[in-house]
Amino acid sequence: APRKLAAGNWKMNGNLAALDEIDVLIAAQPAPGCDVLICPPAVLLHPLKARVGDKAIALGGQDCHAKASGAHTGDISAAQLKDAGAAFVILGHSERRADHGETDAVVAAKAAAAHDAGLTAIICVGETEAQRDNGQTLALIASQLDGSIPEGATATNTVIAYEPVWAIGTGRTPTNDQIAEVHALLRERLGGRIEDAAQVRLLYGGSVKPGNAAEIFAIANVDGALVGGASLKAADFGPIIAAL
Ligand code: 13P
Repeated sequence: APRKLAAGNWKMNGNLAALDEIDVLIAAQPAPGCDVLICPPAVLLHPLKARVGDKAIALGGQDCHAKASGAHTGDISAAQLKDAGAAFVILGHSERRADHGETDAVVAAKAAAAHDAGLTAIICVGETEAQRDNGQTLALIASQLDGSIPEGATATNTVIAYEPVWAIGTGRTPTNDQIAEVHALLRERLGGRIEDAAQVRLLYGGSVKPGNAAEIFAIANVDGALVGGASLKAADFGPIIAAL
């Protein structure tokens, strides 16, 4: 099985003062038994890198542009994220898909750019509540996965995150069987695209908390978590890391 990954997505939260939480996290988890990743707002990458130093915490962006450089006001390239200290970038988060109209094709193009720059792309997929209620979950996840993964994806440069839209920030989570069903589909479907599909890390995301982390991490094909709200405070993210 691949090494587990605890990834924190700070979304549009945090500032320089909030980086003090990283000191607390490092003190609480000096030798984590899994890979740890923090994806802060891009303006905090460089100061966070300085704060982390040689400690075992990787950094990631939350989006990048599909082009390497140029006239794209307000956008950030994958190479710029890397230059600021990132090794990962979250792509196709449901908030990007909803707020910025990102399609599967856009996500795949951004992931290709991330790969070209040497970043690992965390590609997000997930159904809405209406899609689940209509029995469309597995078909939707399959088509999002197929459309969002670029040529050249490998177990090293690609991580998949299953984030049901209705579980994000709501305190609601799928049943263990529902998570297992989607993760099994992801693993099987990746087999047709990626040579070492068994080594691709499949994260679950959506209302992961200290209280449910151990149970979720015990589900087959769950190789870690993409954590939103509970990644902001060391008191919450520390126990989640410990549960992996
Ligand atoms: P919450 O953990 O706040 O539900 O957010 C999940 C998420 O969207 C992580 O990318």
